[in-house]
Amino acid sequence: MSINASGWKPEMGSGEGVKAETFTGNRALMLEEPLIFEMDEQGGCGVDIAPAPKVASRLGGLERKRDIGIPGLSEPQTVRHYTRLSRQNYAIDLGLFPLGSCTMKHNPRLNEKMARLPGFADIHPLQPIDTVQGALKVVADLGEWLVKLTGMHSVAMSPKAGAHGELCGLLAIRSALEARGDAREVILVPESAHGTNPATAAFCGYRVENIPATERGRVDLAALKARLGPDVAGVMITNPNTCGLFEPDMIEISKAVHEVGGLVYCDGANFNAIVGRVRPGDLGIDAMHINLHKTFSTPHGGGGPGSGPVVFSEALTPFAPLPFVEKQGDRYVLIEEETAEEHHGQTFGRMTAFHGQMGMFTRALTYILSHGADGLRQVSEDAVLNANYILRSLDDVLDAPFGASGPCMHEALFSDKGFAEGVSTLDVAKGLIDEGFHPMTMYFPLVVHGAMLIEPTETESKATLDQFIGALRSVAERAKAGDPALKAAPLHAPRRRLDETLAARKPVLAWKEPVQGMAAE
Ligand SMILES: *Cc1c(COP(=O)(O)O)cnc(C)c1O
Repeated sequence: MSINASGWKPEMGSGEGVKAETFTGNRALMLEEPLIFEMDEQGGCGVDIAPAPKVASRLGGLERKRDIGIPGLSEPQTVRHYTRLSRQNYAIDLGLFPLGSCTMKHNPRLNEKMARLPGFADIHPLQPIDTVQGALKVVADLGEWLVKLTGMHSVAMSPKAGAHGELCGLLAIRSALEARGDAREVILVPESAHGTNPATAAFCGYRVENIPATERGRVDLAALKARLGPDVAGVMITNPNTCGLFEPDMIEISKAVHEVGGLVYCDGANFNAIVGRVRPGDLGIDAMHINLHKTFSTPHGGGGPGSGPVVFSEALTPFAPLPFVEKQGDRYVLIEEETAEEHHGQTFGRMTAFHGQMGMFTRALTYILSHGADGLRQVSEDAVLNANYILRSLDDVLDAPFGASGPCMHEALFSDKGFAEGVSTLDVAKGLIDEGFHPMTMYFPLVVHGAMLIEPTETESKATLDQFIGALRSVAERAKAGDPALKAAPLHAPRRRLDETLAARKPVLAWKEPVQGMAAE
């Protein structure tokens, strides 16, 4: 070790040979943080509250005698606690979020500004209708756009997420079949489907049967047709599918299902790839949910609630749920009761207490209006272009199982083929964390071994994509070479590898105060 004139050792800069631990456990701006309960200063309180006046209890001796166990911290302590935790989080405002199937896109700030207008943000669902005409117009206008963009007949705005929309669609299908005295038993679902599809069908009391996929990653039309019969209530098909591929036989699939008296549910979670280019209504679909929090940029994940409006064909419209917003003259009304009218005459009922996710409606309508019809078409084109750029930039180093069958839609799919013995997709995901990226979706869809599903979305710049491609290329090369350090990744994250299986199987959801005087084992 040489020391130069200023006393500075060159090794100090590189960090090599220097002990990395700090007194605090903090690493520069990355701060360690205990649980808020562990920070509790017994008896501490953040505010001055006058002692409660003595009144006789009317609780009949049932009142709580013990402390309620809320940590007592001051306001600055509390603010710092949550701010520190938030810095250990990854967010769409921080960098590329390549989670396939999730469409983690930029949430435009204009949406937020509109959603916060007091006339939208500070209203109550039980307010008199005449005082919320503007809000109802937002719901109605958004619904009209969704019906137009999908080429469908009507829309139910109340479902609160994609999976909730699936439930809404299948309940309408069940009602339609029962109304004609033809309750059926089976829903067909492709092998590659999102887990919510079979779960929804089972929840609605149907038996789920799988439709196999072709080698090109599409629904096997011949196998589907062979299975169709009078016991089949319908199919649930995702288009573009979860392999990131368009189902070109969709019209023929719908026709075949309708011929045997079944109905067609489309999982519209991947609408971002085709919005403005394809109208699902033209493909013979009877019901489809739209994830506003995916295609129409309302925040999701930790950022906000979902919203899953469902569009219906003419055949299913009478069975759609209440409530509906309807324009009568120049006034908007909320239809909350069953009426004899054609578009909700045989409604299956209600999905939620009120009308849906108002904040998401405002954001989605803002997004749609600020893009316009041409802008929305550009969204899907750019999303598809970005995904294909990733697919073709990495298919020399990663196996692209359907790469030979042409371009993908809005997400690129790779497998773990070619990784060294003992190296897995999980290791690659952990390696990406060290490179500063949120991992892609992994092990989904199940039809591809060690799947890595990457969805860049349209708002990522070429520079960001190139940096991500460079990072994933480097991690993939380490995976193929069997770099043992990759098995230990992430090395630079605040936490290393957690036992995720144990956490899922035996979640510890409540903090328990350590028993005083017991030595930690
Ligand atoms: C996201 C997604 C769903 C479920 O939507 P949620 O809003 O998360 O309930 C269903 N199917 C597919 C293909 C999806 O990507």
